[in-house]
Amino acid sequence: MQGIYEPTYRVKKAWGISPRALKSHGITTVLADLDNTLVAWNKPEGGDDFFVWHEKLLDAKINLIVVSNNSTGRVKKAVKALGVPFESWSLKPLPRGIKKTLRDFNLSKEEVIMVGDQIMTDIVAANLAGVRSVLVKPLIETDGFPTRINRYFAKLVTKNKKENWEDDIVDPE
Ligand SMILES: [Mg+2]
Repeated sequence: MQGIYEPTYRVKKAWGISPRALKSHGITTVLADLDNTLVAWNKPEGGDDFFVWHEKLLDAKINLIVVSNNSTGRVKKAVKALGVPFESWSLKPLPRGIKKTLRDFNLSKEEVIMVGDQIMTDIVAANLAGVRSVLVKPLIETDGFPTRINRYFAKLVTKNKKENWEDDIVDPE
């Protein structure tokens, strides 16, 4: 198994992930972090890129569920504009939130993929839950203090590793 800090895939932006690639990997449901993955902190209502991508997913019968560490109130408010189901208080990097999502939505580990912008929370949680993951670049670099701390440690654990950022899910040769 890969290390817990290692995402299965690195893709520049969530909207680069195509329904076709998801389907070819047997994925029916995308679990996604909210802040800086789907919405920028300064544009919490979501941008066109998000809505166009979400539409494409739904057309392909692929579901999207937000898995967020934020409180229920905050996530509810945030995803209202996006029209996406969610799990809050997911306690990433613990796998609990992802496992609960699988139970609540009756999904298997094999048919989901976790997408997020932070190794120390999103990717570690996915690996501990035994689901595949996609690390994306944060939509906006400047964000809260805890996030900056996490990124600092993420830099430490990924140093010396070559990072290849793809436009879509691409399997290594
Ligand atoms: Mg995030």
